[in-house]
Amino acid sequence: MGLLGGLFDKFKQGLKRTQDLVLAPMGRLLGLRRLDEAELQELEDLLLQADLGVKAVDQLMLRLRAELKGGAEVDPKAILKDELLKLLRQRPAAPFVAPSSGPATQVVLLVGVNGVGKTTTLGKLAAHLKARGEGVLVVAGDTFRAAAIDQLERWGERAGVPVIRNQMGGDPAAIAFDGATSALAKGTPWVLIDTAGRLHTKDHLMKELDKIRRSLQKVIPAAPHRVLLVLDATTGQNGLQQAEVFARTAGVTDLVLTKLDGSAKGGVVVPILDRLRLPIAFVGVGEGVDDLIPFDAEAFVDGLLDA
Ligand code: GDP
Repeated sequence: MGLLGGLFDKFKQGLKRTQDLVLAPMGRLLGLRRLDEAELQELEDLLLQADLGVKAVDQLMLRLRAELKGGAEVDPKAILKDELLKLLRQRPAAPFVAPSSGPATQVVLLVGVNGVGKTTTLGKLAAHLKARGEGVLVVAGDTFRAAAIDQLERWGERAGVPVIRNQMGGDPAAIAFDGATSALAKGTPWVLIDTAGRLHTKDHLMKELDKIRRSLQKVIPAAPHRVLLVLDATTGQNGLQQAEVFARTAGVTDLVLTKLDGSAKGGVVVPILDRLRLPIAFVGVGEGVDDLIPFDAEAFVDGLLDA
């Protein structure tokens, strides 16, 4: 996304709070070549505080203990990097490019609970695709929140991307249908659809997403091509159960993890990938238009562990 060499710096900047609060105290331990039981315990506690998850931490500690057997010297940082990369490389996201064949219009649905950064993510994504020279149409599908619609319109104006909306409380499936029809007719490569983050019940929400899906498919049978579940990194592993429900029922293809910059629990990327078994397409590292970056396992691990 036009970031070239900047990815590592962006990750580093986004992981600063995690580094300062949790990883910095670990620096001494990671520099040791031999660790005693108390030091191993201390390392384990700090890794858990970074929200790396019990499974990854157990795996790492097992390997460290095995390599330490017989008084051998170890490199804890190299082992940590290696184990994290193994976990994070399991599910790479498909690149966000318009296909060279097939229907010209790709439909992307953004789902997630209110407040996680869904609208902001959509705005950033629209601006990036537009800056790459690709046409975008934004559909304000969260017809229940006037503020979300206004916010989308501001992002659209700034990026020079059209935003379509209907009246408050209107039918999201109808506006999604209109958006897909218009984009297909004009050959617009991307339709980005915001959806409601809260309805009366979870059932109601899933039914609405289903209805949007069916109405899109009347226009473009393969739509939606991507369904992005947006998650807030500041909630750490606490939000995982809710995310699992979404992931199972909404046909999610990719995850977006926002507010990494505001979280000391940046390690949460690891249990999220492991539990939800979905790739992370993007992470949000701030409120600016350039603060949405494609997830990259190497840049993430280096950003986490290289001060
Ligand atoms: P929505 O309710 O899910 O649509 O959430 P919004 O897009 O309105 O975002 C909620 C708040 O989170 C806003 O104040 C955003 O500016 C902020 N936000 C979104 N993404 C990020 C991010 O990556 N980093 C930071 N620091 N703030 C973010």
